Amino acid sequence: MVAPLRILILEDSLSDTELMLYELYSSGLELVWRCVETEPDYLTQLEAGCDVIIADYSMPQFDAMRALQLLQERGLDTPFIVVTGSISEEVAVECMKQGAADYLLKDRLVRLGQAVIQAMQQKQLRDEKRQAVAALKESEARFRRLADNAQDIVYRYRVSPTVGFEYISPAVTAILSYTPVEHYADPYLWFKFVHEDDRQVLRQWMRAEKLTQTTILHWVCKNGTIVWTEHRNVPVYNETGRLIAIEGIARDISDRKRAEGQLFYSALHDPLTGLPNRVLFMDRLGLALEHGKRNQNYLFAVLFLDLDRFKVINDSLGHSVGDQLLIATAERLKSCLRPMDTAARFGGDEFTILLDDIRAVSDAVRVAERIQAELGLPFNLGQQEVLITVSIGITLVNAKRYNRPEELLRDADIAMYQAKTQGKARYEVFDTGMHTHAVALLQLETDLRQAIERQEFRLCYQPIVLLETSQVVGFEALLRWQHPERGLVFPAEFIPVAEETSLIIPIGEWVLREACTQLHKWQTGVPIPHLSISVNLAGKQLTQPDLSAQIHQILQETGLDALSLRLEITESAIMDTTHSVTTTLSQVRDLGIQLSIDDFGTGYSSLSRLHSFPTGALKIDRSFISQIGTEPNHSNMMIVQTIVTLAHNLGLEVIAEGVETSTQLAQLRALNCKYGQGYFFSRPLDSQAAEMLIATQPG
Ligand code: C2E
Ligand code: MG
Ligand code: MG
Repeated sequence: MVAPLRILILEDSLSDTELMLYELYSSGLELVWRCVETEPDYLTQLEAGCDVIIADYSMPQFDAMRALQLLQERGLDTPFIVVTGSISEEVAVECMKQGAADYLLKDRLVRLGQAVIQAMQQKQLRDEKRQAVAALKESEARFRRLADNAQDIVYRYRVSPTVGFEYISPAVTAILSYTPVEHYADPYLWFKFVHEDDRQVLRQWMRAEKLTQTTILHWVCKNGTIVWTEHRNVPVYNETGRLIAIEGIARDISDRKRAEGQLFYSALHDPLTGLPNRVLFMDRLGLALEHGKRNQNYLFAVLFLDLDRFKVINDSLGHSVGDQLLIATAERLKSCLRPMDTAARFGGDEFTILLDDIRAVSDAVRVAERIQAELGLPFNLGQQEVLITVSIGITLVNAKRYNRPEELLRDADIAMYQAKTQGKARYEVFDTGMHTHAVALLQLETDLRQAIERQEFRLCYQPIVLLETSQVVGFEALLRWQHPERGLVFPAEFIPVAEETSLIIPIGEWVLREACTQLHKWQTGVPIPHLSISVNLAGKQLTQPDLSAQIHQILQETGLDALSLRLEITESAIMDTTHSVTTTLSQVRDLGIQLSIDDFGTGYSSLSRLHSFPTGALKIDRSFISQIGTEPNHSNMMIVQTIVTLAHNLGLEVIAEGVETSTQLAQLRALNCKYGQGYFFSRPLDSQAAEMLIATQPG
């Protein structure tokens, strides 16, 4: 049930009061009422509470305007209706201005009930609005508290008619180092400390551009550190569609950015040396090439470096020393370059350098020489002192000639390869002839692959003799390639390629089988049954772990006695060997096969290391023998003598290669060298000619 309306009437005339009540009841209102005519009584009733006040405009002791004032002074919003006998227009307006809900003439009191109902409805509307405003205020305060305490920066930036932050949350201090107060004081502050690369973005925002997409900005904080923030904005427009404000949230994503940066860095750098890696280097090369295409005067160079014999150091001193050497090498390389140059680790012991903006090839050569001098100084790695050399290929880039970065690298690599084959520890500048040569090599490789199937290989046999009697004691099998177009090709031309491409493995197996088959045939029914055959083995073949098993099988197949087979390995191949190769060599020796060191004296081996290899013989290189008898100071003679004496002390046989004259033969005999081989006795022969030679030998 609805409570009756409490009506307070201010009236001095009883009849008027009755009239009013009559009208109110007639309107069907449920009500209770009080009537007062003095200020104290009025105040008492106000205290007690009422829903509507109906007041006579003027009474002897009190009046409506005063009553209205008192009501308002108490902060009450009770509907207040003025009733008057006669009222002027101005008074009516004054009443309404003061806050009266309505006014009525006493002779029109029929409207009173309606007026009360209306006033009550208005009051209800007012109450509701007040509640709504209060609720809104509460919710704003709530959001404000949220924004104030958020970890992200919450902001509203006014764009029009004036600019400036209307709100920016306190988190801005922790994230960007500038406080809200500083932002309020200077509307352009954020333009000043945003990173200059991003300033344009803020300007775009002001023009209502790019506001709807997530944007990442970076800022320079007070102490100089860089902070990254990710912004989500909402543009606020007025009725005419003009941007008036930007509301947004900014999150600190510096950690994520740093992690991304780290990932990006490691994708482009070599973890060991910290130098740019292949990917980054190729990218820089591409940029340089593009730059060169646009600027005719721009010249740059690419250097391709390969440490000589790094593998030996790595295998003999261990990988950790190898790693330290690479790190130290990287440091020295950097010290030889200008800041604008790029040194990269390309892989293994290969480094590449981009020399930016040089004037002439001589600049690149000077850098190469500086690098060689720098890397030539001893490295102190732990307890070890290590010496290395480096082979360098240089290509000077004329951007017109090249289209892709890979081509530059290819040419620098070709030049480096040239430096290696020219004896290492040197540099070569690429010229187009090298490219032609490289293409020819490629052709050779293609042909070589087919040569085995097409049976284009032959063996020649050069006799090895006992120097004392010139009696043939064996043959060295020497490979020849009957090329369909080029004719007879000698091993010097194709063995290096075969080694590099590993084609030497099947070729070498063919040589072994062919040589063993041939000798076994000769051994039956000839006057000299103890003939031996010497077969050359390439370094690459020694790395086959099943080499001894392969040889064993060939011996079984051909029926040749292991004692009749000798294997020749060049000195340099032996020096490049690792522990596992030494094991392989021992297994081969254990089959009963004698190993000879070929071209002795041309490699780097110290004589003292000889005994650590399972060797049975030394073949003194032709270069020493050929000088004998022509040189004034006999220095080669002395070398040969030393080698012979040393070999005898180590229990090794000695064979002199390349004996061409009787003088040389006489000298070698005098030096007690037991065996020899050379044109003086016989050139390499085909199998038939060799067979005839055997037949003429004294038994
Ligand atoms: P090598 O093993 O030192 O063979 C001796 C080379 O000297 C042969 O050259 C031979 O023809 C040449 N020669 C012999 N006597 C004289 C002489 O009195 N004067 C001069 N000027 N030269 C003489 P060739 O046949 O051209 O072989 C060159 C090299 O190729 C060989 O040197 C050997 O290292 C390699 N080779 C030959 N056949 C094979 C093979 O089947 N496998 C492997 N891996 N290498 C082979
Ligand atoms: Mg040989
Ligand atoms: Mg030799």
